[in-house]
Parts: sequence; C-alpha cells; structure tokens
Amino acid sequence: MSDTTRVYSYSAILMGSPILLKLFVHDEALASRVFRLIKQYEDLLTVNRAQSQVMDINHAAGQRAVKVSSPVYALIKCAKAASELPQSAFNLAIGPLVKRWRIGFKGDSVPPADEITHLLTLTRHEQVILNDDDESVFLAQPGMEIDLGAIAKGYIADRVRDFLRQEGVAQGLINLGGNVQTLGMPEGGWSIGLKKPFSTAGAMIGTLDVENKSVVTSGVYERFFEQDGQLYHHILDPRTGYPLNNELNSVTIVSANSIDGDIWTTLMYGMGVEKGCAALRARPDIEAIFVTKKKEVVLSSAHLYRFTLLDNEYRLTDSTV
Ligand code: AMP
Ligand code: MG
Repeated sequence: MSDTTRVYSYSAILMGSPILLKLFVHDEALASRVFRLIKQYEDLLTVNRAQSQVMDINHAAGQRAVKVSSPVYALIKCAKAASELPQSAFNLAIGPLVKRWRIGFKGDSVPPADEITHLLTLTRHEQVILNDDDESVFLAQPGMEIDLGAIAKGYIADRVRDFLRQEGVAQGLINLGGNVQTLGMPEGGWSIGLKKPFSTAGAMIGTLDVENKSVVTSGVYERFFEQDGQLYHHILDPRTGYPLNNELNSVTIVSANSIDGDIWTTLMYGMGVEKGCAALRARPDIEAIFVTKKKEVVLSSAHLYRFTLLDNEYRLTDSTV
C-alpha cells in the first residue's frame, strides 16, 4: 500500500518541455523508466531533428511510401482522421507552414504573403496517403511535411498512464509541458492549475479538481512573437496559413484520454467559444474551458471536474445556463 498523503515529484526536460511526474511512492527507478518511455516516443515522432520515423516520411515526400512502426502509424492515422473532421482546424500536414513561421524559435518573423500562399498548397491532408496493409505513409508532393506537434504529447501522456497502470500504480500524475494526465484519485483529489495567460510562471486563474482525467491546455501565450504591435502565436489556421485569430487566449480540454484533449484544443481554437460549445454538445465525454481575451472563463459544462475561480479579474460564465 502506498501512502497517499506524501507526494514525490520527479522532473526532466524532454520534447523541449519541462516534464513532471508525481507519485505516492519514492521510486527513482520507476520514474527513470517513465522518462525513458517518453524519450523513446519523442525519438520516433519528433520533427525538430534530422532523424525520426516521422522525418523519414517527410524526407521521402513525393518519392516513396515509408513503412513505420505500428504506434507511429496508428498516431498518424488518428491525426489524419482529426484533420478530416468537418470544419477542422487540425491539419497533420501543416509542417511546411510551421517550419517557415518558426514561431517561438530564433529568427521568427511574418513570412511574405506569396510564400504563405505557396506553402498552403503543400499542406493538403488528403495528400497524406496511408496504407493499412503495410502500415506505410506516403506524402504525395515533394516538400510536404507531417507535424504531430499538436497531438504527440497527448498520445505520450496516455502511454505513460497505461505504463503506470501496468506497473500497478494506482495514483499518479504526468505533466508533459501543459498536457496533464492523471491516474486515480488521491485523498483531496488532483488539483490542476489553470494558467493565467501572459503572466508569471505560477499564476493561475483557477483550479480544476479531477479524477482519472486528462487536462490539456493550449494557449496563445505559450509560443509567440510580436511584430508591428500584432501578436503571432503557434496555432496556425490551415485555411489561411496565419495564426488563428479569434477571441481566445487559451482552451483547456478535460477528457479521459489526453490524445482527445490534445486534438480538441486545436479543434476548439478553430471554432471559438460559441461553435465550440455547440460542437461539444454531441460529446459529453469531452469538456472545454475557454479563456477569452476579455478575461471571461467559459465552461462548456461542468460534470467531469470541479472548477474554482481564484482570480477576480476574470468572470466565470457557464455556456449551459
Ligand atoms: P498544441 O501545443 O497542442 O496546441 O500544438 C501546437 C503545435 O502543433 C504547434 O507548435 C505546431 O507544431 C502544430 N500546429 C500548429 N498549428 C496546427 C494545426 N492547425 N493543426 C495541427 N498542428 C498544428
Ligand atoms: Mg494539441
């Protein structure tokens, strides 16, 4: 039996993000195995290095199909399905635009409009051709690039949860740079902070209490640059090639699986508050918390978690009332 009053934290930097693991046992070896597992997935999925299975696909664009391992194939298939949803702002083939904008990296600036128009022609998700028979992926045009940045952390967070469960861990939490997945329900619950946009590192708008749930936040404050008084952030609109421009500063998704949270934050960004809440009515298993530029906190509903507002600069509204 583990003691659920004493929590042990383990940290690492992986995938360019701070990673935090919380357990109720002191077990460095287990924590190391978790971090190794994350690193293995990062090595398969990254597009920020010359080599990975995803980069093998990108390097072969316009030339040949590349066979990948089953988990990579399954994740790409899932990302393609998310891209094909009606009115989806998610696009797994967004790579050439992400690379060109370099948002959050040295030398980021607004690309010339004609370059964006050209790069848009290289981001057609229907030109990501999957073959279930040999689990291969073919990008139909040279210059195309898959980017799994909007889904990989969610996928990996779920794999960490599965691994911990398999190891007999009843309660734990993994935070992959803003993608939180929780296991079980310790005494007092898991309390997850909702980040205050454009504020100091620990500043919170409020907290969410969850049990066996994932909490994923995507915010414009995470990676951005400013040019001529305008803010350019890292979530791009696949229809225009420019950062999504709407009323939102962040979206948080509460769901059982973190992969859904990761996909739905992008989908909700594309839809905004009103359309987003309407779309979520068909998905009672997925809930959103929108934080707007006008300092409103809008809850799509409130069943999977309990939300406590801590910052009185913000106003809380519930879309269901
Ligand atoms: P997230 O932090 O989950 O919101 O994912 C953001 C990352 O996803 C970006 O840094 C890009 O690598 C990638 N990305 C940006 N825009 C899109 C988009 N519209 N669809 C899919 N991936 C995107
Ligand atoms: Mg995401």
